[in-house]
Amino acid sequence: MAKCAYLLTCCLVLLTSSANASDVRRQDNDTSHVDAISDYVDSIYDDMWNISKTIHDNPELGFKEFKAHNLLTSFMEAQDGWNVTRSLYNISTSFSAVFEGSGDGPVISFNSEYDALPNLGHACGHNLIATVGVTGALATAKIMKGQNLPGKVILFGTPAEESLGGKVDMLEAGIFDDYEIDISLIAHPSNGPDTPYMRTFSTSRLDLEYYGKTAHASAAPYEGINAQDALVLAYNAIGLLRQQSQRTDQVHGIINSGGTSINVIPELSSASFQIRAKDDTDLDSWSARILKCFDAGAVATGTELNLTMRDNSYSAMLSNDILATSWSKYFTALGGRVPEPSLDRIKDQGGSTDQGNISKKWPSIQPQFQIYNENGSVPTGGPHTAPFEVAAGSKKSFDKALMTAKGLAGVAVDVLTVEGMLDAIKAELESSAASSDM
Ligand SMILES: [Zn+2]
Ligand SMILES: [Zn+2]
Repeated sequence: MAKCAYLLTCCLVLLTSSANASDVRRQDNDTSHVDAISDYVDSIYDDMWNISKTIHDNPELGFKEFKAHNLLTSFMEAQDGWNVTRSLYNISTSFSAVFEGSGDGPVISFNSEYDALPNLGHACGHNLIATVGVTGALATAKIMKGQNLPGKVILFGTPAEESLGGKVDMLEAGIFDDYEIDISLIAHPSNGPDTPYMRTFSTSRLDLEYYGKTAHASAAPYEGINAQDALVLAYNAIGLLRQQSQRTDQVHGIINSGGTSINVIPELSSASFQIRAKDDTDLDSWSARILKCFDAGAVATGTELNLTMRDNSYSAMLSNDILATSWSKYFTALGGRVPEPSLDRIKDQGGSTDQGNISKKWPSIQPQFQIYNENGSVPTGGPHTAPFEVAAGSKKSFDKALMTAKGLAGVAVDVLTVEGMLDAIKAELESSAASSDM
């Protein structure tokens, strides 16, 4: 079904492209266009490096990215023609920056993330994501201004991607609806090859406690109700359940507490878990089976279970093929290489992102770009590791981020200028929705 949708959208692009000869040329080969984007981005190199480096060297946790918020909004306020709103819809570290073209037209949005990880700093490289968003938005506006194009470019500051789901809050507040976006562009660093396709899991998170009863562990253990045993039972039940799970079902977690004294029957234990699956439907059914394991721990031990699902589940990322093809066209024109799309678009999923929730409603891509250490080597660890944090601060990684942003600006200009492209992109999303659980 997904393949049918892909073929359908390819046909749509061909049909719409053939309606206008100059648009066909732009779709097929656009080197003059990419040069204009590239020259402009190179001219703002020092400012973009300052943004990337400053955020990298001042890591801040989700919804507390005050320095990054101030840096980015101050910078955008200083740009000619941009209208900036800080703390958008009272989400303290979110923002919008809007550039209006010469009239009504497609609304292109870029998302910049800038939160870091506890104890690991920018080990997910969100300083580079922030930089890609700013660079892509500015470059798009530059071309719009130069060619007097109708439409709009919006840069959103999207806080707290790591676990807290800042974009889900923004979505639920109606921000993306109210700004009437047509597409949503973002990119993410990686230690793997450059690719327009980011493939992620749907995910939800939960916290739980078991409540038992203390007793002397030797003198009167029969009077106790062991909360630690409940957690051990649940943990083992989940371990056994893995054998009967789908290849794309995941669950992982930590035990936060299991008691306080070795000679007292524990009255309280607590844990936090994250559940992931191929899509939202699978996540629901897989989660239901996991939750029974927690129930089992309570039933077997006589403890009381208090389980709380955290807010802001993430949906699997849905990449738009037409946008992906456009980005690959620009990225290869800039000297980059991308994998064979037919395989790349069905590769294994990994991790999760709140951009997935946006991608279900608006056409989106999140290309992944490989980053490097200063000596050109690939970091020995991927995202969420110390070596990745080091690489996220290198000039070489920054250069790749700019190249990625040039590609996204190319995508934006395609959507703004190629007749019928936006309709085809939206039709692809609708047909993907019809063929999946959405
Ligand atoms: Zn991360
Ligand atoms: Zn990340």
